[in-house]
Amino acid sequence: MTVLVTGGAGYIGSHMVLELLDAGEKVVVLDNLSTGRRASVPPQAELIVGDFGDEPLVRDLLSSRGVKAIIHFAAKIIVPESVADPLGYYLNNTASARSLLACAVEQGVKHFIFSSTAAVYGEPEMNPVTEGESLKPVSPYGRSKLMVEWMLEDVSRAHGLRYVALRYFNVAGADPKGRTGQSSPNATHLIKVAVQAALGMRPSMEVFGVDYPTPDGSCLRDYIQVTDLARAHMAALNHLRAGGESLTCNCGYKRGYSVLEVIETVKRVSGVDFDVKISGRRAGDPAAIVAANERAREKLGWAPIHDNLEEIVRQALAWEKTLLAEKAAS
Ligand code: UDP
Repeated sequence: MTVLVTGGAGYIGSHMVLELLDAGEKVVVLDNLSTGRRASVPPQAELIVGDFGDEPLVRDLLSSRGVKAIIHFAAKIIVPESVADPLGYYLNNTASARSLLACAVEQGVKHFIFSSTAAVYGEPEMNPVTEGESLKPVSPYGRSKLMVEWMLEDVSRAHGLRYVALRYFNVAGADPKGRTGQSSPNATHLIKVAVQAALGMRPSMEVFGVDYPTPDGSCLRDYIQVTDLARAHMAALNHLRAGGESLTCNCGYKRGYSVLEVIETVKRVSGVDFDVKISGRRAGDPAAIVAANERAREKLGWAPIHDNLEEIVRQALAWEKTLLAEKAAS
């Protein structure tokens, strides 16, 4: 029962591949290596370098490898970039996902797990935000993902494919065994940036806004450890295999940390008091977004095991050091 992982050479995808291999699954990765790394795919998984929107390629690999489930991570994920290049985002995240789904239907793939995002909510009216909250994405990125959720709803109704769409909150940390982590050279995410500042890879870092209506004025986010997120996908796969219904679930811990708290934690864990500058707000940032996670717990039987900000920061630090050592050795 082969599982196809698109984007399996990327940050979250590479953790998923490890989770699947650890569970004894047969894995094929499809990744165009635009942001993923060949080195992040272990030799036990087959890596095919190509685009998930390439229908002849995908059709052939679904049938020749006997793929029974698809976990679809590959996507463009940078919100400001999506504002500058909406058509690029709709082509890659939406139109190519339509191609992938068409191949899945044609080849009789019955189970599909989709990487969705908290960005489908925009600025939520209530926190913790539940899956039933109104969907008002404010970026082309969020819209490009929401359209795929809608496609999945329609396709499952028409063709009997069942799916789980997982709405990720702020994914962070690295494999606890140190095998993979966030490796993108241009990452903009808070914990990665703070860890790089702690390691002296940047002279300072910025806080984008301390005038939000939050306890300390900086934005509140729900940071979910990446292996816990991969475990939610595994639970989703098991749910579908057991005949479970199609579902959309938030993935987060139902508690928020402010940007200043995160930076404080990185300073404490690293022991480095790096320079932090207060800047103006970044366009499109909601003040606070925290996941209600009852649905994932109840319907998927998922429960976090790495819900600890210090642990997440330690993992991110360890992985950044691994990348530095690799760079020094090359
Ligand atoms: N942030 C920040 N400085 C940085 C990177 C991020 O102050 O160098 C803030 C950002 O404005 C947001 C929070 O940290 O309030 C989380 O941002 P990130 O880009 O990690 O994830 P997002 O919530 O945008 O998906």
